Amino acid sequence: MTVQPKGSHFINGAYVEDTAGDAIPVVFAATGETLATLHAGTPAIIDQALTAAAAAQREWATWSPRERGRVLTRAAQIMRERNEDLSQLETLDTGKPIQETRVADATSGADALEYFGGLAGSLTGEHIPLGEDWVYTVREPLGVCVGIGAWNYPTQIACWKAAPALACGNAMVFKPSETTPLCALKVAEILIEAGLPKGVFNVVQGMGQTGAQLVTDPRVDKVSLTGSPATGKKVYAAAAAEMKHVTMELGGKSPMIVFDDADIENAVGGAILGNFYSSGQICSNGTRVFVHKSIKEKFLARLAERTSQAVIGDPREDETSIGPMVSEAQMNIVLGYLDKGKAEGARLICGGTRLDRDGFYIAPTVFADVTDDMTIAREEIFGPVMAVLDFDDEAEVIARANDTPYGLAAGVFTKDISRAHRVIGQLQAGSCFINSYNDAPVEAPFGGVKASGVGRENSKQAIEHYSQMKSVYVRMGDVEAPF
Ligand code: NAP
Repeated sequence: MTVQPKGSHFINGAYVEDTAGDAIPVVFAATGETLATLHAGTPAIIDQALTAAAAAQREWATWSPRERGRVLTRAAQIMRERNEDLSQLETLDTGKPIQETRVADATSGADALEYFGGLAGSLTGEHIPLGEDWVYTVREPLGVCVGIGAWNYPTQIACWKAAPALACGNAMVFKPSETTPLCALKVAEILIEAGLPKGVFNVVQGMGQTGAQLVTDPRVDKVSLTGSPATGKKVYAAAAAEMKHVTMELGGKSPMIVFDDADIENAVGGAILGNFYSSGQICSNGTRVFVHKSIKEKFLARLAERTSQAVIGDPREDETSIGPMVSEAQMNIVLGYLDKGKAEGARLICGGTRLDRDGFYIAPTVFADVTDDMTIAREEIFGPVMAVLDFDDEAEVIARANDTPYGLAAGVFTKDISRAHRVIGQLQAGSCFINSYNDAPVEAPFGGVKASGVGRENSKQAIEHYSQMKSVYVRMGDVEAPF
């Protein structure tokens, strides 16, 4: 499979190249091999993309919403038909195991395109009667939206942003992470094939600087970022300076609480999914696993046993369930946290090291006896590192779970349904789970509170973040002026 695209960028319906931009090597994380070289967008490329988007948006907004939706639905169908090729590309771009990418990436992107494609025709305003007079509201697009992606889910992130934006009549310029630049180009190709007018969805490669140039351009009306809280603060501030709309999908340090009456197998399964899927590179992961003291040792024993069954290997192999970290840089960040966990006195249950093989592999790691003040309990690690903390009672664990600047996700495992709802009701988090972890169907709003973000992706909620309401007062009688 050749992964070198015909050009680094996708603008106005075609691949474009400008080798004057800084080189972006695409490194396969399982081997360290360079698979392709792309180039960052120069100012001329950025200008070309924004000019194309602004022109295309004006026409796209005149299409009937149902016609817009039909394009997205067709794109969803093409993505599903090409799932195998897209999954293989995602695996090469990110290093995630093919058994994951086959079910969680192009499929999730297709879900978003299908959902918002279906919703497009029903995006209406309302009629507000005022006696003789009345007001009607019109749902209008925002204009040109910039999407900026993280590297963990490159296809999904491009689709989660493009689908609602395009359904509402906006155009988009999407900047993937420089670490995973390939997949969004395929999304652009498929949208064009599905009948999207040229220029409505464009991809510009680049580093943070390219993102910053896009955010501050006066032609841009909205910015949707998926990234770290540190980048989120910079992008939010830059957008606010010109009163642009934002959606911020940022990081977290989410709690997962396991009560003494929980089904241990399900709780262990939830902790594995919420810490080791995608080698732990998931924003909503439940990385602080609070386990009731009375079941702690049983939980840890079963966790260690099941973790030892992970198949760590080449992500292209069907049986591999744990692949490498996305990059050498991310691996080194995670290794630094492993050192801190050990140095600050956490008890290592399993893992804790880099694997002695090519590529950027870290063994799935469980630390027990973690206390609230340890670095590994406070900072987002974004790797396969689970911190297990113990607790005695409900009020105590709720207070400790909320004692973080973040609020992306939270989970509770218990058979007591009243307790489940009571506890979830008090947790400060945007995306919550009862007896489950990390499900993210497109029908459900996804996003965080506190430092984890602003706005929501997916569901009908996303429409509010990609459109604005115009209200029109209609007077039926005469105007009564004072003079
Ligand atoms: P990151 O370093 O914040 O980068 C995110 C994106 O922003 C990249 O495309 C990056 O470009 C770009 N960027 C960096 N500085 C910028 C600036 N000043 N202006 C505009 N754009 C800028 O995050 P990451 O390391 O790629 O991803 C990991 C983080 O994303 C974690 O914190 C994770 O929790 C979060 N995340 C959140 C969600 C969610 O939905 N809540 C989902 C996935 C990941 P380059 O990297 O190419 O330089």
